[in-house]
Amino acid sequence: MSKTNLKIKLDLSEFLFSFSSINTYKHCPYSFYLMYDKRVKRDGNFFSDYGNFIHSIVEAYFKGELDVWEMSSYYKNNFFNNINYDPPPLYNILNSYYNSGLKFFDNFDFDKDHYEIINSEEFIKGTIKDYKITIKPDLVFRNKETGETIIIDFKTSEIYKNKKLDEEKLASYKEQLSIYIYFIKKFLNIEIQKGMLWFIRSNQKITFEYDEKYALDVLNEYEKIIRKIYSLENIEYNNENEFYCNYLCSVRNSCQYKKPIKDKVENG
Ligand code: SF4
Repeated sequence: MSKTNLKIKLDLSEFLFSFSSINTYKHCPYSFYLMYDKRVKRDGNFFSDYGNFIHSIVEAYFKGELDVWEMSSYYKNNFFNNINYDPPPLYNILNSYYNSGLKFFDNFDFDKDHYEIINSEEFIKGTIKDYKITIKPDLVFRNKETGETIIIDFKTSEIYKNKKLDEEKLASYKEQLSIYIYFIKKFLNIEIQKGMLWFIRSNQKITFEYDEKYALDVLNEYEKIIRKIYSLENIEYNNENEFYCNYLCSVRNSCQYKKPIKDKVENG
């Protein structure tokens, strides 16, 4: 990472930290500065539009606003109204994403009547030490028969890279859900036994048991990052991943350090 001569002036004692804002900082501190201190206009991208649209359909189902047999037709009828950004010109991303979403809703098989929905996409806020934190779980439900409580995170990214499980990505997703489980216990006094990552485009579910020691270790690491943000003098920028800078970063249109993409592969 390279350094700027800028520093954060934001009153961080009033700032509402989220998993997303901390990860923004982790990837590129300058993007955190542009987003939360300078408050420049943010842009979405094809992948965030797609993820938001898929989440909105799943949420509507769990809130009883869509029936299971309506999900697929709702997806087909509203897909293009909800995708505002072009996909990157890499391979036939649009068709591939559209078809995998359609396949997911055509085969959606989850009978919510067996479960009591505890939280679906609602913000939970609280304070840990001196930091204000907000989280927004996709879904928390309790099995009516067993009493087991599970938190689910729906993911539209791939978890396999070159046919191998992307362990780094999986670890980051587990960190997020473990922290969510810890906060839900602390803020709402609800105990959650399991986390589930549901990869929509491949319709794969990965489930893990909650481990409080692991959650506290993760929380310690996040606290270290928050303390670093508080003491920030020369904000660094990270423009090494050109794809991220040009297609994913939400402040890419206000960033003077963004490098142009070198090689483009046309749609095919
Ligand atoms: S475009 Fe790249 S360098 Fe600029 S803020 Fe975003 S991630 Fe950082």
